[in-house]
Amino acid sequence: MSIQAATKHNHLKWQAIAARAQKKPETRLFIDGKFVDAKKGGRIESVNPANGKVIAEVSAGTAEDIDRAVAAALKAFKAGAWSKMAPRARMEVMYRFAQLVDENAEALAVLETLDMGKPIADVVNLDLPAVVETIRFMAECIDKVDGAVTSTESGVVHLVLREPYGVVGAISPWNYPLLMATWKIAPALAAGNSVVLKPAEQAPLSCLRLAELFVEAGGPPGVFNVVNGLGEVAGKALALHNDVRKITFTGSTAVGKLILQYAGQSNMKQVALECGGKTPQVFMADTEDLDRAVTAAYCGIYANMGEVCNAGSRLLVDRSIRKKFVERFIELGQDAFKPGDPLDPATNMGPLVTHGDQKRVLGMIDKGRKEGAKLEFGGDVPARLKGGAYVNPTLFTGVKNSMSIAQQEIFGPVASVIEFSGVDEAIRIANDTVYGLASGVWTRDLDTAFRLVRGIEAGIVWINCFDEGDMTQPFGGYKQSGNARDKCLDSFKSYTQSKSAWFRLKEG
Ligand code: NAD
Repeated sequence: MSIQAATKHNHLKWQAIAARAQKKPETRLFIDGKFVDAKKGGRIESVNPANGKVIAEVSAGTAEDIDRAVAAALKAFKAGAWSKMAPRARMEVMYRFAQLVDENAEALAVLETLDMGKPIADVVNLDLPAVVETIRFMAECIDKVDGAVTSTESGVVHLVLREPYGVVGAISPWNYPLLMATWKIAPALAAGNSVVLKPAEQAPLSCLRLAELFVEAGGPPGVFNVVNGLGEVAGKALALHNDVRKITFTGSTAVGKLILQYAGQSNMKQVALECGGKTPQVFMADTEDLDRAVTAAYCGIYANMGEVCNAGSRLLVDRSIRKKFVERFIELGQDAFKPGDPLDPATNMGPLVTHGDQKRVLGMIDKGRKEGAKLEFGGDVPARLKGGAYVNPTLFTGVKNSMSIAQQEIFGPVASVIEFSGVDEAIRIANDTVYGLASGVWTRDLDTAFRLVRGIEAGIVWINCFDEGDMTQPFGGYKQSGNARDKCLDSFKSYTQSKSAWFRLKEG
């Protein structure tokens, strides 16, 4: 069942598919091309946040399972069936892998929604097409990224070769379980590395199927392994492992800092970090087409329940248009995202990932009120959906950038309107955060746009739009949002290291 076909399913059909999927989902670890139980036999409950019911108990890997997986990955890397495969042959496997993801869209989508609460419409219309595109793009890089012959004196030939690292450890978050994992594993695999992936414990199911599909596509066993487990157990063991040559991480800034420590405590492995954000969207006084800007503002914070690293959580609005902006935001945005059953393709807002996260986000909203921000709407739980981890779309105005809701990553559907006057103050407030992942700028004036683009410390600036892009776009942050770039050609290159070969020719 292709992605395209899955976009046509109605609510009843998805409910039937979900009922089947929950009967016996695969829950073991995937090591050396096979499903195996965790050595110590531990298990983690995977809970459907839409109703609080346990979907499955997933094998909880420990350091011993990480050892097994890394050993399998290293053996496969040294054997060379993948790492030394001819580029075009490796491309063919990757293309087939992408094709199988497409053909298995129904099964992958339903696991994603049950596990994480993401609206099924988002999975089939956005996430899965992006997963397929990522694998295809990275496959295309395989024979497009060259080494170099540099300019030297005539008695020397100097080659720069690009080689894979060996075993790459990947640790991924739960907010886009398949897509965030694919942003790591696709370039790592395409570049010829072997991979051990540790998915987030809140959404561990779909990546198991992803690894199985890689082997079905012709990927040699041991090249792509998945070890589920707790972050501080399995994730830590992976980041500390001496046979892992690169660790690539997406998740919170707090854990990103630990990953840097683990690398230092072990083998100085390469560390690639994609961490949190507190994205500002700046609406200048000359913002044209206010409705389009306001739509970008509420979609930018309420999509995916606000559980997005680059969610536009800080809306910086020029004082002269603040009143109009807030009125329009309330008119257009208050009811645009309606919490509902994520298996219904008409639903555009599911529950938060866990009941713990619901409590945490409600706590942040409470803090916002206590610190003096004005709650315009939301801030509560939808009355008819009490069993799920839902939070209504929420808007605060009168927010000072020093308040907790403007400084901390809420990772929920909570927007804060912060006032400013003029470009300089906008830049100062935009940069007054430890994060620097993304930003948005709304103005018709070219000079103002460029001053903001230059002035804002963030890896991405969207001008007169928000959250757009494609595979050519580097995705990653400045400051404590991380040190890496996903997607793009540079991402592929970052899973290779350069080797310099200097040939001194015989004189003659
Ligand atoms: P998290 O940091 O809690 O967990 C991320 C991963 O790290 C999980 O697999 C977890 O098991 C693992 N982990 C936890 N503790 C660990 C430890 N001590 N050692 C090793 N691994 C450990 O983050 P999360 O809650 O899963 O995801 C949300 C965060 O991810 C947000 O901060 C969000 O901004 C960020 N994120 C960033 C990007 C980006 O591209 N910059 C994309 C998506 C999410």
